[in-house]
Amino acid sequence: MSVSPVRPSRAVDSAYRDRAQRVIPNGMYGHLATSRLGPDYPQFMARGEGARVWDVDGREFIDFMCTFGPILLGHAHPEIDAIAVETAARGDVLDCPGPEMVELAEVMVDEVAHADWAMFAKNGTDATTLALVAARATSGHRKVLMARGSYHGIGGWALPDEAAGTTPEDHVNTVRFDYNDLDSVEAAIEQAGENDIAAIVCTPHRHDVFIDQEPVDPEFARGVREICDRVGAALIIDDVRVGLRVDTRGSWEAIGVRPDLSAWSKSLANGYALAALMGSEPYREGAGKMTATGSFWYAAAPMAAALATIRILKETDGIETMRASGERLQQGLRAQATAHGFDVSVTGPPQMPLLLFRDDPEFTRARAWANACARNGVYLHPVHNWFMCTAHDEATIDEALERTDRAFADVRAELGAD
Ligand code: PMP
Repeated sequence: MSVSPVRPSRAVDSAYRDRAQRVIPNGMYGHLATSRLGPDYPQFMARGEGARVWDVDGREFIDFMCTFGPILLGHAHPEIDAIAVETAARGDVLDCPGPEMVELAEVMVDEVAHADWAMFAKNGTDATTLALVAARATSGHRKVLMARGSYHGIGGWALPDEAAGTTPEDHVNTVRFDYNDLDSVEAAIEQAGENDIAAIVCTPHRHDVFIDQEPVDPEFARGVREICDRVGAALIIDDVRVGLRVDTRGSWEAIGVRPDLSAWSKSLANGYALAALMGSEPYREGAGKMTATGSFWYAAAPMAAALATIRILKETDGIETMRASGERLQQGLRAQATAHGFDVSVTGPPQMPLLLFRDDPEFTRARAWANACARNGVYLHPVHNWFMCTAHDEATIDEALERTDRAFADVRAELGAD
């Protein structure tokens, strides 16, 4: 793999930032805005290949964010890109969907254990919001229960009450509980009214920003399933972030708890825009009645890319590759932190690691280390979980660990050890 020479200059990125300030609110918005990351992060990138990305100045990074999830098999995957380009050349968005839509629905219904049908859209927000609408269209109930701190996209129902530009009415049907705490779910049911619960939405594990990741307690998952059955609500798993990286069948299949509806997006098509709502038989009729459409939802190229992504992931045992390399990274980071005198937590399924510093209430160390990683050529995030892809082989992990070791040394020099 060719590696561009590291150019110390940040001139090109800096010029684009200046131009962006004039024509884009805050110069950039949403989770790709690097304004809240350290000074050594680029804002604009030029290309990606395998497990690496290059910024507009030609600086190379080993990438552990993988576009915040979409890149599953590596950037610019030749086979997937060839299929997508070939499909798009025939007409990506036509008056009707291509046959890929049916083929993909068949593949996903076969793969996702709880699902009897599929609908496709573009973003995670589409899928989570459609799931809630399908639940409401089925039961006629209004309320949705979600965990405090969970992220389910930018639908008004899922945003914090104080989110700019939302109204109290946007939040009036949302009631919050604490993840992995069944008593708090019961309390939320009582608050919402037992006869008016449309859905309980859960992420597969707790992967909120700023905190250690936490596996789901199987007792909690079983309890939520029972509560949903008792009150006539849909159990929705928001598999947007985790889906395909941990289990192609759905992320609670390993613990034997099946949702009624599940929301998928990010990694489905290795970077091409696609989301899926998967549902079980009792929700088919309601889903068929809801207003659900989007100008670009039926584009054929992302669906062709998804078919290839799922096939290659399975043929190559990609989940195991990501698990093994993620574990190598996690173990390496733990050892390095200890050697440098830092007390850290490294959490999450190995395919989605996160390192936080203990006793770091302002995330000063987390930010300094992540920034030092960027400076040393590793792209990761101080407080949001990272993502492995199958292009992270052992040699890449070892090279990344050499760079993170330098980052720990930099932070020790800058801030001192714990
Ligand atoms: N749900 C979860 C769990 C997510 O992580 C995200 C995206 N970070 C979303 C929903 C929303 O997805 P999108 O940004 O594609 O709308």
